[in-house]
Amino acid sequence: SAFAYAPAPESRAVVDIAPSYGLFIDGEFTEAAGGKVFKTVSPANEEVLSEVAQAGSEDVERAVKAARKAFEKWSALPGAERAKYLFRIARLIQERSRELAVLESLDNGKPIRESRDSDLPLVAAHFFYYAGWADKLGHAGYGADPKPLGVAGQVIPWNFPLLMLAWKIAPALACGNTVVLKPAETTPLSALFFADICRQAGLPKGVVNILTGDGSTGAELVAHPDVNKVAFTGSTEVGKAIARTVAGTDKKLTLELGGKAANIVFDDAPIDQAVEGIVNGIFFNQGHVCCAGSRLLVQESVQDELLAALKRRMSTLRVGDPLDKNTDIGAINSAEQLARITELADAGESEGAERWAPSCELPDAGYWFAPTLFTGVTQAHRIAQEEIFGPVLSVLTFRTPEEAVAKANNTPYGLSAGVWTEKGSRILWMANKLRAGIVWSNTFNKFDPASPFGGYKESGFGREGGRHGLEAYLDV
Ligand code: NAD
Repeated sequence: SAFAYAPAPESRAVVDIAPSYGLFIDGEFTEAAGGKVFKTVSPANEEVLSEVAQAGSEDVERAVKAARKAFEKWSALPGAERAKYLFRIARLIQERSRELAVLESLDNGKPIRESRDSDLPLVAAHFFYYAGWADKLGHAGYGADPKPLGVAGQVIPWNFPLLMLAWKIAPALACGNTVVLKPAETTPLSALFFADICRQAGLPKGVVNILTGDGSTGAELVAHPDVNKVAFTGSTEVGKAIARTVAGTDKKLTLELGGKAANIVFDDAPIDQAVEGIVNGIFFNQGHVCCAGSRLLVQESVQDELLAALKRRMSTLRVGDPLDKNTDIGAINSAEQLARITELADAGESEGAERWAPSCELPDAGYWFAPTLFTGVTQAHRIAQEEIFGPVLSVLTFRTPEEAVAKANNTPYGLSAGVWTEKGSRILWMANKLRAGIVWSNTFNKFDPASPFGGYKESGFGREGGRHGLEAYLDV
């Protein structure tokens, strides 16, 4: 292959990855009680980055106990004092953002341009935003003196490791809760670097605890009787399992699950702008995005023009080394995820949709998938119904706004949608009819810490971000 995985030495050098990491419990890095470890690899070349402790039940016990103990003092601090820690964390994230961006790209496979320009600025912004709320909770609309819930058990996925951590930890801490967080098994490193930032910020011991491990660690954490609040982002299947565990207990629960967003393009939309939005909607972060615009609904009359422009644009996308600043599409996060994407794309073909991808050379080592387009997709096809979570776009057509709404709403999910049109009245009408927690118009994948994010239907419940994000961590 023409591609050679050779990260620029200087960019690799900004991050110092230790050969092994322990769990972060009660302010200290410690081995797992059972001594178990697992490896985390770079998906771009399968190089082992580090060995990480695998937390078992004894470790869950220790971490929850530490969080419970820390809760007494942390929740009693005046909000303005908690804010100081959160501001300090936000500033340290900014100071260390180059290092963290490279780390995130190495462990996750995402292009450095995205981790540098999207993930890291948003991570810092979330801590700044919720730091601002910590001393104003009485004015948030949830009563004069809302109380924190206690210990939050938080389980996050691998697609935006540090950003999902920020979405979970920043509001929890601002409200006076303490946290035990489990990062995904394929991307544990940035959470451990965050633990180091907590130490640097002088955060009191036990307020944040990080348990690396797999699904069994997550299952033990959410089931622990002394965890008061469970927050999960990940697959709908695991979300449902967690909901069953939590049912019948007094734990509070929020779930951010899968999606199958429709990006809907009307014939009056500016085509070039729409093409950029479609590309950003599905190929950002290799399509490992719960709110990805994975279904393109295009009005029949502009189908030919739009698809021609889209194919031209897709032919310019560069797939390759995540640390190369010119890369548009990085590595698929794991062999398992690559197998899932491949299986669904093959199903698209065998069910009769037409597959297209620009010719591009993929590296030999690591996990890669070319940006792919399916036309001739019907609503019953698996690629129109199931979350692929990869760089694969399914194209359907419509004639009227009513038909667009019916098709857009015809999946079990309801996380996000996009509407492209010059007509303001149509945007409002569509936004009202679409069963989706987020509707973007004439843009896509825009995030802001002040804006609540969350789903309808099987995409989950509860909101993260904004004032609404506080509610999940308060007794109102
Ligand atoms: P997953 O749901 O299995 O894993 C997410 C997190 O949950 C990880 O930290 C994992 O260790 C943990 N976990 C797994 N089983 C658990 C259990 N029984 N109890 C508690 N925690 C548990 O997701 P995945 O395997 O990484 O990906 C599978 C599919 O999920 C993807 O193909 C994609 O469709 C979807 N997904 C969605 C999102 C999202 O943001 N909505 C994120 C990741 C994956």
